Amino acid sequence: MIPTGRQNPTFRFAPSPNGSLHLGHALSALLNADMAEALGGHLLLRMEDIDIARCKPEFETAIVEDLLWLGLTWQQPVRRQSEHLSAYRQALDGLIARGLAYPAFMSRGEVKARVSASEKAGRSWPRDPDGAPHYPPDDRHLASDERETRIARGDKHAWRLDVEAAVAAIGADLDFQETGDGPTGVIKADPLAWGDVVLWRSDAPSSYHLSVTVDDALQGVTHVVRGLDLFAATGIHRLLQELLGLPAPVYHHHRLITGADGHKLSKSNGDTGLAELRAQGFSSADIRRLVGL
Ligand code: GLU
Repeated sequence: MIPTGRQNPTFRFAPSPNGSLHLGHALSALLNADMAEALGGHLLLRMEDIDIARCKPEFETAIVEDLLWLGLTWQQPVRRQSEHLSAYRQALDGLIARGLAYPAFMSRGEVKARVSASEKAGRSWPRDPDGAPHYPPDDRHLASDERETRIARGDKHAWRLDVEAAVAAIGADLDFQETGDGPTGVIKADPLAWGDVVLWRSDAPSSYHLSVTVDDALQGVTHVVRGLDLFAATGIHRLLQELLGLPAPVYHHHRLITGADGHKLSKSNGDTGLAELRAQGFSSADIRRLVGL
């Protein structure tokens, strides 16, 4: 079912330019365009390029070429997250000021060692919906003068959301409206399942969760159409929206296109990209058929 009843329906396709597009991206982009058209709305294109080490301008150029070939049009300008870091920083600073974000000093290796020590001792360690271990609670309880000393002496740190404090600050259950290919209707958000997510990294600024939430609001996105692999992440996005006083879009998480053996499509698995299919003589109508539209 296509959601209705919003003013100026605004959709976005938000690829990360760290590789080329494959059929899974084509389904997402085409579905966004089709739903925008059906509602008389418009489509935005956003480059989620905060991971500067992996994102490259040549991938962005190739993505635009693929999307034009698919027959998509979108409103200009294209938003590049790397050009808006101050907006995400401002949101982070607000959360820090409210005591809802804290500096996290443990390295990946330290976290891993802590988790495996616990598991070897027969104590299970909480994991997020993607299977990653929750961040240990140590830094959440550091005294503020110790935090300040460690930051002042240049200890490498990320910023993490104190998810329990954040949920308590909201003081109400959160939900979202879902119209996609998984469970639909009013879905209960479960931000606690994620543990203390990263809001700002030490190596790449900002984080996916923070920037996607800020951008969807700043760009007036009313409908988020993306893969079912991000269904659970919506719990954290709803919490951040509520904390930052931002509106909640309607969500539509679509089925995923998988490879022959059921794996999620990706460049690293050697799955055929759209540009290759184009070079092999496929038309954009063929791509529509291939993704089941
Ligand atoms: N940038 C994300 C990706 O390429 C999509 C994020 C979203 O649609 O919320 O997987």
